[in-house]
Amino acid sequence: MNSVTTTSSTAPASDQPRSSTDRRGILFIISAPSGTGKTTLCKQLATNLPGLWHSISYTTRKPRPGEEHGRAYYFVGEQTFQEMVARNEFVEWAHVYGHLYGTPWKSLTEKIDQGIDVLLEIDVQGAMQVKKRFEDSVSIFILPPSMTELRARLQTRASDTTEEIQRRLHKVKEEVWSYREYAYIVRNEDLGQIAS
Ligand code: 5GP
Repeated sequence: MNSVTTTSSTAPASDQPRSSTDRRGILFIISAPSGTGKTTLCKQLATNLPGLWHSISYTTRKPRPGEEHGRAYYFVGEQTFQEMVARNEFVEWAHVYGHLYGTPWKSLTEKIDQGIDVLLEIDVQGAMQVKKRFEDSVSIFILPPSMTELRARLQTRASDTTEEIQRRLHKVKEEVWSYREYAYIVRNEDLGQIAS
């Protein structure tokens, strides 16, 4: 069984100077089981909604074909990641599917202080931690239309091994019930039309 644990670090100094705008950015948290088209939806949101910034997480997972360092993620080694944990550089970090993922404090607080809305695309455990730290954040959960369609979609994503797909499907069954923790639930009926 896949283990998922999340740890959060102490908040950094939040008394940094505010920008000229009085409006603080809104923090949107989006979580969804693998294969629900979440990444594509988030990219579309960030492209189509001016003033919305898609946070870039750090991960120890290897890049998939087409993924560039500093765009999808910052791809780092485990030692670098652990050093960042030790320096309290993450709002939250988690073991997900055998890899480490973390949301950096710095860019997130900078954007919010500048009045820019931020989109976090993170797993359920991470989302719960962020919700505690940012009580006015807006949480959104995306549901797939069915497990059958979800399995089919994961199988077409050639980059993942059969074992990886099984692990992800297993996790979906656990994660799906977390929708109750979110303020908004979106059912994505359009998996077939969404590119990986
Ligand atoms: P993938 O490897 O497929 O891009 O992402 C795997 C899972 O990790 C997804 O559920 C994704 O939302 C989650 N994830 C990505 N970045 C972070 C992060 O910074 N923190 C946490 N907790 N989960 C993340």
